[in-house]
Amino acid sequence: MTDTPFDPQQAMANARHEFGEHGGVNMSIEASTTFTVMTPELMPEIFAGQLGPNEGGCYLYGRHFNPTVFVLGRMVAAMEGAEAGYGTASGLSAIAAVIMQRCGGGGKVVSSNTLYGGTWALLDEYLPKNCGVETTFVDIQNLTEVETAMQNGAKVLYTESLSNPTLRTADIKALASIAHKNDAILVVDNTFTPMIFSPIQQGADVVIHSATKFISGASDVIAGVICCSKSFIEELMDLHLGSLMLLGPTMDPIVAFRLSLRLPHLAARMKEHSCRAMYLAKKLQELGEDVVYPGLKNHEDHALFNSHRNEEYGYGGLFTVDMKTPERASKLMDLLQNEHRFGFIAVSLGYFDTLLSCSGASTSSEMSKDAQDSAGISPGLVRFSIGLTGSIEERWNQLKQAIEQC
Ligand SMILES: *Cc1c(COP(=O)(O)O)cnc(C)c1O
Repeated sequence: MTDTPFDPQQAMANARHEFGEHGGVNMSIEASTTFTVMTPELMPEIFAGQLGPNEGGCYLYGRHFNPTVFVLGRMVAAMEGAEAGYGTASGLSAIAAVIMQRCGGGGKVVSSNTLYGGTWALLDEYLPKNCGVETTFVDIQNLTEVETAMQNGAKVLYTESLSNPTLRTADIKALASIAHKNDAILVVDNTFTPMIFSPIQQGADVVIHSATKFISGASDVIAGVICCSKSFIEELMDLHLGSLMLLGPTMDPIVAFRLSLRLPHLAARMKEHSCRAMYLAKKLQELGEDVVYPGLKNHEDHALFNSHRNEEYGYGGLFTVDMKTPERASKLMDLLQNEHRFGFIAVSLGYFDTLLSCSGASTSSEMSKDAQDSAGISPGLVRFSIGLTGSIEERWNQLKQAIEQC
């Protein structure tokens, strides 16, 4: 054994051992929804779980395992250093399936109070109303508050690696130890920071990605991935009690194939997103703007971020600028899109071009005004997901001019 630090890029490269059907350099797409068994006696063994993708390469039906989706899951699992992984139809269905599997039928969740709006609505409204699953929301930076909340017997501690849109870092090591002390699992949404953080290496039990964002990189597919232990994937796929099997948010094999072509250059893209975001955030700070970016030394969690991150991949592609009022936020976005061609006014992130959104009026609008305030979301907050296109000097000129016009 060596103590070389975990490198997601190398781990993924080492795990690659698929060829296409005719020796193609890319894997083949298995588009069949059902699979032949060679002899009838095998069918009951597949149904009983004695045979499967890892046990004899046996497949049953496309809502259960599919070979193409299986390989994609293995690639993302390798990137996270997880035992197993599987693709889902969306990031949100991955989150819902994991929480239902652990907490369905009255289990409790403790969650960060700063979340992607869809996840917030799921935990705050949908699950209590429809499934009796209650969530206690906490300030995830306040470990004492987390510990106290966990005393209620919660089975899941839930957080985003980097909170949306406030860009605070979660202390994964500390949260994992709190979760495990209370017989719970730590579930981390790593959508904002693929490659930068490897939460499973720091004790998390489940990592979820919305592959719609950086993993796709082209804003052309909705997809999710769950990385965890092999036994938890099997539980999610159980023919009688599995949330993935029975709620059925199945990833299309063609989507899995397309994503498999994006993963090999995810590392290069993340480095470039990070490098450009850092350049622009520094320039904005020099100009006296109220910019929040984990790579800046004045960021509240700069040291914590450094202690958890994989080196080489930077601090991510997202920063926020507080324009103080919704009117100034709108003016800035309008100028940036329609006059300077700096980026697009659109929700989402991880696209190859820059995306701009006013969080309070868009991706966090599921939260009440009070919930937004307590999560630190100012009404004039503009979130930037910095793209990879254009010359960086010219991009800075465009941004600087727009800011000066506001
Ligand atoms: C977009 C997003 C999700 C939801 O993913 P979908 O693929 O849109 O279902 C969950 N978490 C975060 C942090 C996101 O940005």
